[in-house]
Amino acid sequence: MEYAALVDVYERLEATSSNLEKTAILAEALADADEAQLPILVKLLRGTPFAAWEAEELGISSRLTTEAIATATGVDEDAIEATWRDTGDLGDAAAEAVANRKQRTLVTTRLDVRTVHDTLQELATYEGEGSQERRIEAVAGLLNDADASEARYVVRTVLGHLRVGIGDGTVRDAIADAFLDGSDAAIEAVERAYQVTNDYRTVARTAKRDGVDGLAELDVELFRPVEVMLAQKAEGLPEGIDEVADEGAAVRLEHKFDGVRTQIHKQGNEIRVFTRRLEDVTAQFPDVVAAVREGVDATECIVEGEIVGYDPDTGEVLPFQTLSKRIKRKYDVEETAAEIPVTVHLFDCLYRDNESLLDASLRERLTALERILAPEPGAIELATHQAAESTADGGESGDDGRGDDTASGRAKDDAGETVAAEADRAFYAAALDAGHEGVMLKNAAASYQPGRRVGYMMKVKPTMEPLDLVVTRAQWSEGRRSEFLGRLFLACRDAESGDLREVGRLATGYTDEELRDLTARLEPLVTERDGRQLELQPEVVLEIEYEEIQPSPEYDSGFALRFPRFVRVRDDLRPTDADTLDRVSTLHDQQ
Ligand code: AMP
Repeated sequence: MEYAALVDVYERLEATSSNLEKTAILAEALADADEAQLPILVKLLRGTPFAAWEAEELGISSRLTTEAIATATGVDEDAIEATWRDTGDLGDAAAEAVANRKQRTLVTTRLDVRTVHDTLQELATYEGEGSQERRIEAVAGLLNDADASEARYVVRTVLGHLRVGIGDGTVRDAIADAFLDGSDAAIEAVERAYQVTNDYRTVARTAKRDGVDGLAELDVELFRPVEVMLAQKAEGLPEGIDEVADEGAAVRLEHKFDGVRTQIHKQGNEIRVFTRRLEDVTAQFPDVVAAVREGVDATECIVEGEIVGYDPDTGEVLPFQTLSKRIKRKYDVEETAAEIPVTVHLFDCLYRDNESLLDASLRERLTALERILAPEPGAIELATHQAAESTADGGESGDDGRGDDTASGRAKDDAGETVAAEADRAFYAAALDAGHEGVMLKNAAASYQPGRRVGYMMKVKPTMEPLDLVVTRAQWSEGRRSEFLGRLFLACRDAESGDLREVGRLATGYTDEELRDLTARLEPLVTERDGRQLELQPEVVLEIEYEEIQPSPEYDSGFALRFPRFVRVRDDLRPTDADTLDRVSTLHDQQ
């Protein structure tokens, strides 16, 4: 397939903002592809030559890309950067440079999709001395054969910033339309298959070849991480327990640890550690690998847990910020591991010795986990847990996963309201006292459901009051949301001077719709562009939730919000109504 045909698809996708139209364009392109091309096409349409969980990075920065454009076209780097600044898109700058090309090697060939894909994949394999030059040469080679439009998309793909506006939902619907009947049932089958495989290549190929039945047969596979199950937030402990115990199921309470969620895959001696975002962090956690090798007795398994950092002197839980150094560290791994020792607290088992446990109940999965786990305190342990007492209607009797002598039925307070039984509250308090974040509430009868679904698992933790903050700067998002301004710097107000002081950067909490709306509001406010970073007139006020306020030298307020989440735009507030630095400071002191 010629790359020009793919560029035509990109251009049509970019030209419409309607999700329905995007789905139709995508479905047509997928339906036209033959079986060999399909996996490549699926990846390039999503703007990357890799699946989500492949640890690869192209390793090429905007600066190197600019050099590659200059090499291929003879246009000088300053001129390329000037266009880049004007348009805010190095892809556009590449297109312009190619259109004004001053030089070209004698031999050129039409670009085809496979060449682009293979060349990009190879970029990630270049290592050591001379690797930068080889990357520049490889990208320049593609640009040499490209026309202006092709150059635009080659560069955007290289930078992981395709800007054609297709999200996972669009790809899902397009696969259901192209190869199945496009019904809700078909869409659900594609979605489940994606959650289990995390790989649209496999999903598309299977849908084309074997239809809905084939998709249903896709299951967990070792070393291909499964989308993790997430928790909804409970209003409080009794409310959460009631909700999780919906049909009278037993509820398991566990400590909610504040660390790195991990999914660990083991096959014989080979062990790989993935994060919640499915990044492969095996190299950064040799101690976790060793703990699993010693403490998990299964030939094959996939287990989940939380990696928590502890102070080696005091034994106290270390804040996530400290632990996160372990993830970033590529060198001196052993040294950092000694400074920040970790314990793995396991809480689930998705696969064991040739058997997928995704459809098994939590109770059964935990039985499997306990069977293979030989805990080694301080290295690998079962997550601290307790059966909830105050399940709705007293819970079920018999084999319900609770301690059998703890069922005391639902407790009522004086006003007749449901309250968590004393033991539940004590468990919550103990979790907080031990330095953990709160508790998780899990339905013992429920299967494993990737994503955030009602009724499976909830979290309870102390909440902080939301803040109203002003957006001062923005960056284009990466990956599938790359055409949105999704990274927003937030500021509070110094009441004395009237200056805005930044307290953090927001990157989550919004739907695609909300992001689109925010982008439309913010783009007209741009005062300065520096590559992908934009300075804004401070006008938009957002309500932001967060988990904690931490002291931080990174922002000029001296504080940073941990895990800020978008709640809504406060159209009713002006920047002068935003929360003050004093209030941020007081909330910080109160935590
Ligand atoms: P949140 O990030 O606040 O939505 O909470 C979900 C996260 O809590 C998961 O991704 C895990 O990293 C973490 N977590 C901590 N302790 C547990 C536990 N016992 N069971 C499940 N998840 C846990």
